Amino acid sequence: MRYHSTRGAGHTAQAGQAILRGLAPDGGLYVPETLPRVEETTLKSWQKLPYPALAGEILALFLTDYDPAFLREAAAATYGDAFGGKAGQVRTVHDGLYSVELWHGPTCAFKDYALQLMPRLLVQAKRQLRRDEVTRILVATSGDTGKAALAGYAGLPGIEIAVFYPNAGTSEIQRLQMATQPGDNVAVYAVEGNFDDAQTGVKRVFADAEAAAALEKRGIRLSSANSINWGRLVPQLVYYFYAYFRLAEQGAVRWGDPLDVCVPTGNFGDILAGYYAKHMGLPIGRLVCASNKNNVLTDFITTGTYDARREFYKTASPSMDILISSNLERLLYHACGDTAKVAGWMEELAQNGHYTVDGATLAAIQSDFACGCADDRAAAAELRARFAADAYLCDPHTAVALCVAGQRGGAAPMAVLSTASPYKFPRDVLSALGLPVPESDFAAMAALETATGTKAPQSLAALQTAPVRFAQVIPPAGIRAAALF
Ligand SMILES: *Cc1c(COP(=O)(O)O)cnc(C)c1O
Repeated sequence: MRYHSTRGAGHTAQAGQAILRGLAPDGGLYVPETLPRVEETTLKSWQKLPYPALAGEILALFLTDYDPAFLREAAAATYGDAFGGKAGQVRTVHDGLYSVELWHGPTCAFKDYALQLMPRLLVQAKRQLRRDEVTRILVATSGDTGKAALAGYAGLPGIEIAVFYPNAGTSEIQRLQMATQPGDNVAVYAVEGNFDDAQTGVKRVFADAEAAAALEKRGIRLSSANSINWGRLVPQLVYYFYAYFRLAEQGAVRWGDPLDVCVPTGNFGDILAGYYAKHMGLPIGRLVCASNKNNVLTDFITTGTYDARREFYKTASPSMDILISSNLERLLYHACGDTAKVAGWMEELAQNGHYTVDGATLAAIQSDFACGCADDRAAAAELRARFAADAYLCDPHTAVALCVAGQRGGAAPMAVLSTASPYKFPRDVLSALGLPVPESDFAAMAALETATGTKAPQSLAALQTAPVRFAQVIPPAGIRAAALF
């Protein structure tokens, strides 16, 4: 299978090259030339596969320049023990509403699904393309991506990783997850400012030709672990299939009938994977895009106008605090099939901060997607209600999706993607439950265990005594120097 840019179909790449490059040379995102069609007989044959084996099958359909045996082994090594046998685990919230818990991996957020696997794909791509430079990954993170990327890339040969997060912009748990990361090839910096300051600083380094040339001389090439990379998207298709099979098995959805899926959305990667799964032939009904108070996507899916000229809100679901939702560009391409149009809209967005798609493109998008938003107050009320009525405990991101799912009446059963462990945000969760909130995250963790009868993941509890390795705070202007160490 070949890939081309959303902004021009002239240049094509194999999956390995797309993964190594991240962005296409024209600044667009790589999209598959055609989508593999999965027939009923194949779906049936996949139905009973354990998660790692299913992942191997789906990866092989998209990453055709990789040896299928390598992909099977990589999937087995990734989704076995590290996910405690709980990869793709589905739980019933109440009749007709289900939660796909994607946070049983090593860093307790769904980003592990992509970032535990992608480093293996990257190392293998370098091998296949006989590239021997050092790859230095730069990551700007609001919290979850940073730790998931550190955990995925730590200790890998030929790779270095530097992570930049907003100082005081993450939960204490998230900060410690990063600051205690072991490994000789990792570096972590707190940046004075917010996530945008960190992100802008990192993007500047990527766009800095002088910096690239200086690194090149030392045999180093920069790369990104951002969710625009195809290697991050494709592993996320797997859990849509796996969840459908589990729900069909338990009679929650009749085989072949549609399942609606509601996804707490930021950069539009997780939900876009569902779009691909649907268009391959998995019976998904509506993909419901759930946003927090930063509801630029709600407005876009409703009106066809994307307008980033708006106030940025810091919310209790920080991984969804985003005004420029990068992966939407891929959906625009699939919905209109016209790279020139997409290039035009992206140019308008860059120049003026907004664009409006044509009626046919909007209609195509609305035939697959629904949307809704919930502010912190509504999400907290939902979190509390689900625990009180259903004994189901979730994190603030998942609560946004549960709230939006609840706003929709519909005949089809609904699955919500649960993207983080509640123990990553113990203070916000306690507060939502209406309980006293201790100062420290660890006291909050203990209080949450007592109040809910659930158990904090061992990897988070262990942070309390883990040695802190990184405590450096730098101004945004210092990102370049830190990235060029
Ligand atoms: C990253 C993240 C999201 C948003 O996912 P996108 O793929 O960026 O839309 C939602 N919830 C959590 C907990 C996350 O870490």
